[in-house]
Amino acid sequence: MKKGLDVLRDKQLNKSIIFTKEERKKYGLQGLLPYAVVSQKQLMIRFMEMLRRQPSDIDRYIILSSLQERNESLFYRTVLDNIKEILPIIYTPTVGEACRKFSHIAREPKGFFITPDDKGNISRILDNWPEKDIRVIVITDGQRILGLGDLGANGMGIPIGKLVLYSACAGIPPKHCLPIVLDVGTNNKELLDDILYLGYPHKRIDGKLYLDLVEEFVLAVQKKYPNALIQFEDFLTPNAYALLNKYRNRVLCFNDDIQGTAAVALAGVYASTRITELPYTCLRILFLGAGSAATGIADLMVAAFIDERLSREEAVAHLWFADINGLVVKSRTDLMEHNKPYAHEHKAMGLVEAIDAIKPHILIGATGAPGTFTKDVIEHMTTINKRPVIFALSNPTSKAECTAEQAYTWSKGKAVFVSGSPFSSFHFNGFSFRPGQGNNAYVFPGIGLGAIICGARYIPDEFFLAAARTLAQLVTQQDINEGSLYPSLEDIRKISLEIALSICRKAWSLKLATKKRPENIRKVITKFMYNP
Ligand code: NAD
Repeated sequence: MKKGLDVLRDKQLNKSIIFTKEERKKYGLQGLLPYAVVSQKQLMIRFMEMLRRQPSDIDRYIILSSLQERNESLFYRTVLDNIKEILPIIYTPTVGEACRKFSHIAREPKGFFITPDDKGNISRILDNWPEKDIRVIVITDGQRILGLGDLGANGMGIPIGKLVLYSACAGIPPKHCLPIVLDVGTNNKELLDDILYLGYPHKRIDGKLYLDLVEEFVLAVQKKYPNALIQFEDFLTPNAYALLNKYRNRVLCFNDDIQGTAAVALAGVYASTRITELPYTCLRILFLGAGSAATGIADLMVAAFIDERLSREEAVAHLWFADINGLVVKSRTDLMEHNKPYAHEHKAMGLVEAIDAIKPHILIGATGAPGTFTKDVIEHMTTINKRPVIFALSNPTSKAECTAEQAYTWSKGKAVFVSGSPFSSFHFNGFSFRPGQGNNAYVFPGIGLGAIICGARYIPDEFFLAAARTLAQLVTQQDINEGSLYPSLEDIRKISLEIALSICRKAWSLKLATKKRPENIRKVITKFMYNP
């Protein structure tokens, strides 16, 4: 049994001044702590006061990150009880800044780095990770961090942040979580020139070398942690698709940028039909941006249309794309593989012209290009729709296609607005709008939790459909009345539990579960969930 300072230095054991007098005696802590004994709640209030006193969000990020390394239960209790306030710090938008500055602000060792120098040894070096029962791995190669581009090893903030959300939102015990950066170099000259850069200081490896390293990693994980779910995160779109297509039916894995985003956006689309009163099967959707996020959403929408008995061709006819070079049409010669299924026979044109020609009910932006939903764009959407539905998904906040204020004012209060990063409530014409945030945190923790509980073999589209439907059903009439297409994040534990349940049920009905179906699934999930 650990004693004394060893207890205080162990983040899983340390409760600091929450330790009772008896515990202090038992663990040899007398004299090592001041006299006062406080409750977890009191210590949390004190921490929140200190957090709010910090001059900037990045300072808040740093002290939260230190708390995570010092006192795990206090950290997760604080995150969970203040989720709306803390989520934008530990995840988007602040995590973007934290990644940019990672090499300058990193303190404690966190996460696991694999570089090309480890080729042939990945399985062996994974032994260095202290925990042996890993259930969720989030991995990035840092090449497309949020909308910020290639941040190399600095991308570590992303797997760390996502796994905090797994534990906070879905109660996956932190000891079962492993954040990894596949540090294959960076093509970001600024980082390569930065003497403080902590990553592999070379240009990225690519092609066969890169794919072989990923394959070695996947095989090592399967051997060492056969029950682990791998979440691919923030890979450059062509690699994201290549890896997803290679592993999706072979390994328990998914890509959150493609599939998690899809589920959360589809949930918002389903919820929007309660405001627009248009059935899902009638919707025409125009995407601005034809990268991994937008295409992932469209792919899941196709699955949802097919589930409503449309053919694939009929489904695709509902979905249109425009990107940096205009409307995605068959005659274009610059399209990537994932764009081709959505290239329609149509005249080439720009966004505003396309809105007039296609008359979409819903406009979804996933470009990383701020300001692309101009006044003209919103006004044209408002002319053709009683309630135009506008998703400005690009992260962080500074990259949003338009702001909440712009969407509401330019549409004269008619827009139903969803963003990727949070926007505050906005008052217009005596009405208070609460913009919904299409945050992936609504779905991926619950999907992961469900997949772990039932021991899913792999993760089919049906899981994401189930998650989207469950999330949409949890949107209350009050949310709808305020113009929000998502439930309150304060209910995230309940939301994750319901999503996990829907995943388990789906897995057992599709015969994809390796675990035996228990009599009371809800009870099994609840028991597994970590309560800080
Ligand atoms: P990506 O690089 O794969 O794709 C970007 C696409 O946008 C490309 O098709 C590109 O042609 C297009 N584009 C770029 N500039 C444009 C412009 N000025 N006009 C029109 N099109 C333009 O990136 P991605 O992975 O698809 O992510 C895109 C954005 O979506 C990012 O900002 C990311 O943060 C955001 N995102 C949000 C969520 C969420 O809110 N839940 C989830 C995932 C991604």
